[in-house]
Amino acid sequence: MTPLFLFGTNFKMNQTPAESAAFYEQLAGSVVQPPGVRLFIIPPFTSLAAVAAVAHKEPHERDIWVGAQNVHWESAGAFTGEISATMLRALEVDLVLLGHAERRRDFHETDVDLNKKVRSVLDNELRALLAVGETAEERSFGVSAETVARQLKIGLHGVAPHELTRLQIAYEPVWSIGAGGTPARPEDVAPVAGSIRRVLHELFGEAGCQVPILYGGSVDATNAGSFTALPDIDGLFVGRAAWTVEGFIATVNAGLAGCG
Ligand code: PEP
Repeated sequence: MTPLFLFGTNFKMNQTPAESAAFYEQLAGSVVQPPGVRLFIIPPFTSLAAVAAVAHKEPHERDIWVGAQNVHWESAGAFTGEISATMLRALEVDLVLLGHAERRRDFHETDVDLNKKVRSVLDNELRALLAVGETAEERSFGVSAETVARQLKIGLHGVAPHELTRLQIAYEPVWSIGAGGTPARPEDVAPVAGSIRRVLHELFGEAGCQVPILYGGSVDATNAGSFTALPDIDGLFVGRAAWTVEGFIATVNAGLAGCG
């Protein structure tokens, strides 16, 4: 496991700006991050300015990173309804989530689209959190490793080793996320996380071994430690269980106990 333990949540299409700002303030006031631990929240676009206002500090000094849920690959232009990395940078965003399963499924994002988004995020000096994971159907055909390898090889095409300090991968088996998901077991996660690590090594050499891999999918305080105990897992990306400050803190603590 790399020294940095990452833990964060994505609020999806939930929360007003005031609710996100209150969450950030309450969380920042409740946790003392041990060295090497990095927390983040990813509210909706409409909350980013309000959260940045309560976060006060410059992005690189911030205790808790603030992320965006998506970005367009162009920096400006005729793309109604879209947001660019330049705009996110002006909002002092720390990281951008790319390729969440809901965006791949409902908004038809392809690996090639995601590659352009990764490039734009890194070119704008932001951090990218690229989500990968197989569907239930892909799993049933035994191609989980091939699926994540394809997502990584296309999504990270052209990324240079020196940019890897701003890259994180979230492994989220599509069949295990959200209310309708079947919780994955550590023995389901371990081989695919191992495949992700091997692909990162194949693409980037030793530097690829330092890229944090987060696990996400029906994680809560009862199972968090069983995933962080896995050798290739460096953090957790949590949905429902971390949508209250109490749940967020309980799940972080359970995850940290598993690393021990
Ligand atoms: C997700 O939707 O990315 C996710 C991890 O959700 P949950 O933790 O609620 O399964």
